[in-house]
Amino acid sequence: MGNKVTMSVELLDGKFDNVFTKLEACGRICYNSESKMEEGTAIPYIEKLLKAGHESVIEHDGMVFYVADQYRDSIVDLITSVSGSTHLKISEHKWKMSKSYIISGNFRAWRDHYRASFKNPIAATSKAFMSTHLLALAIKDFGISKAAQGISYMGLTSQFRPNSNIDLEMKHLTATFRIDNVSRVMTHQLVRHRPCAFSQRSQRWCNESDLKYVMPPTISEHEIDVPHNTFNSAIIEAKNRLNQLYEMPGVRKDDARFVLPNATATNIVMTATLNQWRHIITLRTSDKASWEIRDAMKLIYQQLKERYDFFPEIETANA
Ligand SMILES: Cc1cc2nc3c(=O)[nH]c(=O)nc-3n(C[C@H](O)[C@H](O)[C@H](O)COP(=O)(O)OP(=O)(O)OC[C@H]3O[C@@H](n4cnc5c(N)ncnc54)[C@H](O)[C@@H]3O)c2cc1C
Repeated sequence: MGNKVTMSVELLDGKFDNVFTKLEACGRICYNSESKMEEGTAIPYIEKLLKAGHESVIEHDGMVFYVADQYRDSIVDLITSVSGSTHLKISEHKWKMSKSYIISGNFRAWRDHYRASFKNPIAATSKAFMSTHLLALAIKDFGISKAAQGISYMGLTSQFRPNSNIDLEMKHLTATFRIDNVSRVMTHQLVRHRPCAFSQRSQRWCNESDLKYVMPPTISEHEIDVPHNTFNSAIIEAKNRLNQLYEMPGVRKDDARFVLPNATATNIVMTATLNQWRHIITLRTSDKASWEIRDAMKLIYQQLKERYDFFPEIETANA
C-alpha cells in the first residue's frame, strides 16, 4: 500500500535570510533535494538551474523600482517598453502635486527585458536596472554598475510596502506559498492560473516508489468500506506496476511514471501578486470549486490575512 498524506500550506516570505536562499529552496522542491541546502550553495545552485534552462525558478521573487516624474523624459523608452510588457507592471503614483512611477517584475521578467533590449537605446537603462541589486550577484552576465539617474531600487516584490497605499501593494507585492501533499488533480487546477510562477516536484527526477497519495473525503469517509477498498486496490496496483517498471532495464523513470494515478501526492511552490491571489482565492473557495483546492485556498487566505491586514475580505464557501 502507498502512504496517505495530509495537505500543508506555508508562506515562504520572511522564512529565509536572503532572496537567493528562497529561490534555491523553490528550485530544490522540484528535485526533493532541500536537505542539500547549506551556506554558500544558493547562488551556484541558481546558476546551474538557469544554465540548464530551468529559468522559471527565478520568477518566485523580483524587484520594484521607482521613477521620479522629473526623469520621465530621459527614460521614456523604458517606461513605454514596460507598459507593453506582459510580465512587468507599471503604476502611475500621484502624491499631492507630484507624480512618479512604480515598476515591478520578477527576476526573470527583468532578465528577459534586459536581453530583449540589449541592442537598442533602452539597453543602457535596463542594464543599470538589472545591475543595481538582484541577480547581478547571482547571474554573472550582468555585472554591477551604478543605477541610471532617476531610477531607484525600492526592494523585492515580496517586501514592497509603499506607505500604506493599498492599490499599489495589491498590484506589485507578491506572496509565495509552498503547498505540500496535495494531489496532481489539484495542482493541475492550480497551474491554470496566469501569469503566476510555479515550481513543482518532478516525477521525472524524484523516486515515487512509495506512492504517496491523497484520498478524497467521499471515499475516505464513506459509511461503507467498498469505495475505500476499491480506491486502495487501485493505488496498490499502480504502485506495484510502477515499481516493476522501475526495475525493467531500458525503461526510463520518466516513462515509468505514466502509470501514476491522479491521486499521487505532490509538492508545489506558487508565487502571485496579492491581486492575483485575491482572484484565485475568490474563484477557488466558491462552492463550485473542488474540495482540495478550496481547502488549500482557505489556508492561503488565512495566512495572507494574518500577514497583510489590508488584504480584502473574501466570502468563502463552507461546502
Ligand atoms: C468551478 C470551475 C470549473 C472549471 N472547469 C473547467 C473545465 O471543465 N475545463 C477547463 O479547461 N477549465 C476549467 N476551469 C478552469 C478555468 O476555466 C480557468 O482556466 C481557471 O480557473 C483560471 O482562472 P481565470 O481564467 O479566471 O484566470 P487566471 O488565469 O487566474 O488569470 C487572471 C485574470 O487575468 C486575465 N487573463 C489571463 N489570461 C488571459 C488571456 N489569455 N486573455 C484574456 N484575459 C486573460 C483574466 O481577466 C483573468 O481573470 C474551471 C474553473 C473553475 C473555478
